[in-house]
Amino acid sequence: MAVSLFLPSILYLTFNAKRRTITKKIILEELQMSAEKEKQKIQKLVEMGKRVHMLVREKQLADPELVALSGQLLKLDAEVNAHLGKKRPNKSDGICPQCKAAFEGAFCGGCGINIDEFFAKPMPVCIICEFVVDENDVFCGVCGVKREA
Ligand SMILES: [Zn+2]
Ligand SMILES: [Zn+2]
Repeated sequence: MAVSLFLPSILYLTFNAKRRTITKKIILEELQMSAEKEKQKIQKLVEMGKRVHMLVREKQLADPELVALSGQLLKLDAEVNAHLGKKRPNKSDGICPQCKAAFEGAFCGGCGINIDEFFAKPMPVCIICEFVVDENDVFCGVCGVKREA
């Protein structure tokens, strides 16, 4: 290659490389931005989904597709719960619903609650997933929905 052509070629290549780097940077920034927007969109969809799920559970929405999706969510909650070994406390289990100690008779030897009394009264359940919740819980331990005071 003649020297007279060499310099312009180098300049051209350098320019091109720089342009490619800038282009790459712009593409990367655009990707990051759309990924960020996508993330925000998903968060909004999740919020929306939670709200819709609640409205379906409260029977304020009757769209069949939404009802079906809501039912699938309930089923998933139930499956996760079963997997974690959480279930509605039952007197015949012989386990105190409060402190989880084994009990015999009418009172728990661990925490002293009246076992008969506990099972005689209706258990507070989550309005959304219908799992038993602790009266003082602000959020349902199963579906995570905020409980009304
Ligand atoms: Zn107990
Ligand atoms: Zn729940």
